[in-house]
Amino acid sequence: MKNRVLFIDRDGTILVEPPEDFQVDSLEKLEFVVGAISGMKSLAELDYELVLASNQDGLGTDSFPEETFWPAHTKMLRTLAGEGVFFDDQLIDPTFPQENAPTRKPQTGMFTKYLSEDYDMSQSYVIGDRATDVELAANLGAKAILLQQVSVGEKMLEGKLFAESCVLITPRWSDVAEFLRRTERTAEINRVTSETAIKVKLDLDGAGVSEISTGLNFFDHMLWQLPHHAGVSLKLECKGDLHVDEHHTIEDVAIVLGEAIYQALGSKRGIDRYGFVLPMDECRAMVLIDFGGRADFVWDVPFTRERVGDVPTEMFKHFFKSMCVAMRCNLHIEARGENNHHLIEGVFKAFARALKMAVRRDVFKYDLPSSKGVL
Ligand SMILES: [Mg+2]
Repeated sequence: MKNRVLFIDRDGTILVEPPEDFQVDSLEKLEFVVGAISGMKSLAELDYELVLASNQDGLGTDSFPEETFWPAHTKMLRTLAGEGVFFDDQLIDPTFPQENAPTRKPQTGMFTKYLSEDYDMSQSYVIGDRATDVELAANLGAKAILLQQVSVGEKMLEGKLFAESCVLITPRWSDVAEFLRRTERTAEINRVTSETAIKVKLDLDGAGVSEISTGLNFFDHMLWQLPHHAGVSLKLECKGDLHVDEHHTIEDVAIVLGEAIYQALGSKRGIDRYGFVLPMDECRAMVLIDFGGRADFVWDVPFTRERVGDVPTEMFKHFFKSMCVAMRCNLHIEARGENNHHLIEGVFKAFARALKMAVRRDVFKYDLPSSKGVL
């Protein structure tokens, strides 16, 4: 999985910006923004790299000698470290604005490492207090959180093309932390092959509306069990080669959906694991799931009809098996009953409920549910 990053501005965001000269060049001027320490402590537990990104105008020149910068900066880092907040990287540009250096925010010269294949900028954020922080986010292909009073922030961004990168304006660090915790477990995948074109947007914590369209009515009906019973929100569109048959559509949706669940789970910190059993009229369905990192699949669902609606029943096993491999989980599915529609709907419902249980997370107990320390 690609790494995600929170790029955090320093002055005006972590530290109060001195109004007289905008330079934190003595210990007397060192003051934290209200809520910054607890907000960052909360973010440090999430699945992001933390990168400090700051312009320090003229650092190292007579107007801002290095020896006046480092004592306060080091003290800030030590205070944050005491609360479990460590930066993976610190990007500090020392040029003056008039130099127009390619390294100065909002230019991306300092950020080339993060524009590589190893990083997912679309799932990364810039957190800062100025319009240039939002512009930086736009230049990186990331999203921005603007730490300002809403009316002030809106005015800053008025008429600016890069304003659409801004996903949140708030004066409170606690809102930033809550927003990122709530939206952390999302995934977006677009996959195009000669057989199917699939777009999936998934939020395991269920913020947002769901839309499902695969061109197969009965398959859509089954997939709707996920938003209904797993508490996730899911946008899924598949344009497949249905003129050939249903196979590629169902198989590829399974692969992309499984991959999306895997990506959205991230580090799996704080999650439960396990399973669900339910009756559906005369049928009963049992789904056991374990996101332990290994994929094993057990299927025991005896259908007596060749099709249900516009889907061949043999494709349901293939669907869950493909998804199981993509999710890297153990998945055991067993069902009994007479009515084939009930039988498979019970399986999808039980799967959705099992998924809900397995991915549910206790944000107050942010441990890995494994004695091995890895899932
Ligand atoms: Mg700032």
